[in-house]
Amino acid sequence: MILDAGTAERSAFAEPFDVCIIGAGPAGITLARRLASAGAGVALMEGGDLDFSNDSQDLYTGRISGLDYFPLDAVRLRYLGGSSNHWAGACRELDAHDFEPRPHHPWSGWPIGKEDLDPYQGEVARILRLDGGNFPDPPLRRDSDDFRRILYRDSRPPLRFGEAFHDEIAASDAIRLALNANLVDLRLDDTLGTVTEARFRSLEADDPGFAVRARAYVLCAGGLENPRILLNARSQIPAGIGNQHDLVGRFFCEHPYMRVGEVVFEERFFATEYHAPTPDFLDAYEVLDFNLQLLADRPRTRQPLSLPKEVAREAVCVAPFTERLAQRVVGNTLSCADDLGLRAYFERREMPEDFSGFAAIQFEQALDPSNRVRLAAERDALGLQRIVLDWRLDDLDRRTMRTAVLHFGMLLADQGIGRVRVTDWILEDDFQAGNAAGDLSGSYHHMCTTRMSDDPRRGVVDRDCRVHGTSNLYAGGSSVFATAGHATPTFTILQLALRLGDHLDETLLG
Ligand SMILES: Cc1cc2nc3c(=O)[nH]c(=O)nc-3n(C[C@H](O)[C@H](O)[C@H](O)COP(=O)(O)OP(=O)(O)OC[C@H]3O[C@@H](n4cnc5c(N)ncnc54)[C@H](O)[C@@H]3O)c2cc1C
Repeated sequence: MILDAGTAERSAFAEPFDVCIIGAGPAGITLARRLASAGAGVALMEGGDLDFSNDSQDLYTGRISGLDYFPLDAVRLRYLGGSSNHWAGACRELDAHDFEPRPHHPWSGWPIGKEDLDPYQGEVARILRLDGGNFPDPPLRRDSDDFRRILYRDSRPPLRFGEAFHDEIAASDAIRLALNANLVDLRLDDTLGTVTEARFRSLEADDPGFAVRARAYVLCAGGLENPRILLNARSQIPAGIGNQHDLVGRFFCEHPYMRVGEVVFEERFFATEYHAPTPDFLDAYEVLDFNLQLLADRPRTRQPLSLPKEVAREAVCVAPFTERLAQRVVGNTLSCADDLGLRAYFERREMPEDFSGFAAIQFEQALDPSNRVRLAAERDALGLQRIVLDWRLDDLDRRTMRTAVLHFGMLLADQGIGRVRVTDWILEDDFQAGNAAGDLSGSYHHMCTTRMSDDPRRGVVDRDCRVHGTSNLYAGGSSVFATAGHATPTFTILQLALRLGDHLDETLLG
């Protein structure tokens, strides 16, 4: 059932629920569906509406300190489906070694392992409609002790969670989705250890708000908002909920992305190739995890087909009813989802050969408590303090990037792939220069701000995603990542949401 909390439909939330989920992006929707399938009564509380609005988006405005970063109201979307409304759909799991503590990376290590998330792999691939099946990573041209080739799988077209699951949620008896329901406070019992109600209001100026009560509450508001909510929840605890060791919001990690050099390829090069280090390389050079991307100047997802096949494909894409005819001509179904077409086929005949391109790195950022989400003095339209994001890179980040790039250059030469001309500022070791030149950015991934650890002095949530010091408050999404790895986060976010669903099913309903 879908209701608008901005109107008079609040009575539908008067009875207590099993679980109250705050935020209906990929994490919140996945968890709600999992719990509904187990028969739980779920209140799914979404701050935005069915579509973008400036007023809702403005609640995401904040300040940046440190390296230049994207405006905080541009790196995420605040309406049903959350940032899946503009994500790119590239998916990959974390590797087993990403969960292990590494002596050269202070604070690293998860309390769970890859084997705890593996059981959810297939279900996540189905939800995300990942293409290509569970194919293995391809081999390198020649064996290397240092690098391996890796693949990303694509949610293609990228799954927009709000659109994809709207009708299912509307028809559900188990899920009550409230739109325009912005969480403004969490109230605790006398022991200050159990949440008794979550308070919501719309953006109407004189809205008195309303409360939702549940047996458990789960914050799924995204990697920057989860800590912001906890820090703002100060009506009973001045430091905020879960912040007894001043850890909420700390250890913010992005996946820094940098163009690191131009590449001249030995052979014509169309596609994008990804390479990652072996675990032995990470240990030997004492660096963080990363991937290196080779991109053609005019990247293509595939080589052009033969002329008859391109004609058939164009026919399929222009008029879908010609699909069967095309199938008879070329013997298989031709995809419309990638970027070449008949026009490109003829254009390519005029183009020079593709021998040039560039290399880029995307890496796991070092866990640094001074990289953090903290509260600003300014307040938003709901009266909540906005955020300041402190984002810098440190010596371990710098060592990782230089080591990776220099060794990758050797790999390309060894493998006969091509030669890299490394961008000057990397050799000069100056991140500020790269950032100012626009070569260094983030990847729109916001991680580790309520990181997972069994030790309340090292993390905000425990292995079950429960906020330390509380009995019934949980967090979902990439804020709970204990380290960032180098892989895109959404696959892991969904694995964690399904795992949390199992935990709540067993502990609340079982
Ligand atoms: C341009 C772009 C490209 C990306 N590409 C990729 C990619 O290729 N691969 C990948 O893995 N990831 C990618 N990402 C990241 C991906 O979008 C996120 O990992 C994912 O959306 C996180 O899901 P989430 O549910 O945790 O949070 P969100 O998607 O941020 O959803 C949070 C939800 O909570 C709601 N909310 C917030 N505050 C409140 C409140 N106070 N009360 C009630 N509701 C609230 C929001 O409206 C929103 O609906 C990309 C992101 C961007 C911006």
